[in-house]
Amino acid sequence: MPDMATIGALLGSVKTATEIAKFIRESDVSIERAELKLKVADLISTLADVKMELVELQEAFAAKDERIRELEEAFQAKDSLVRRWDAYYIPDADGAPIGAPFCVRCWDIDHKQRRLVHDSKEYRIRVCIGCGHRYENRLAGDIAPPKMEEGEA
Ligand SMILES: [Zn+2]
Repeated sequence: MPDMATIGALLGSVKTATEIAKFIRESDVSIERAELKLKVADLISTLADVKMELVELQEAFAAKDERIRELEEAFQAKDSLVRRWDAYYIPDADGAPIGAPFCVRCWDIDHKQRRLVHDSKEYRIRVCIGCGHRYENRLAGDIAPPKMEEGEA
């Protein structure tokens, strides 16, 4: 886990900074000015490392938050699609699949709802916009509503 390594490095840097600061505090007045300056420079350099390691951790946490958000969304939506043949669909009020198809691979593996679009060269093929998986259109086509709405004719 890279995050654990970063935390380990961060703790090491903080320990080094603390030791340098203690050395400066405990030095008696006879400490050479040049040596003192050197120690302060070490301290500043170590604090710069701490800052860099914190930025790395901040980025790692942000990425984890994003992934958690995606998984929570997927978890809440896990029963929201119904399968028919080679695709998933949003169910109508009675739970029957309707409308445009979603990729089976992306939903089952990545828990992401990704549309299937027509291949520009082969009309009988549907392609996932996410993973590029190809589907036979007759097994993954649009499903029209069973009847027209009243008052339309
Ligand atoms: Zn896909």
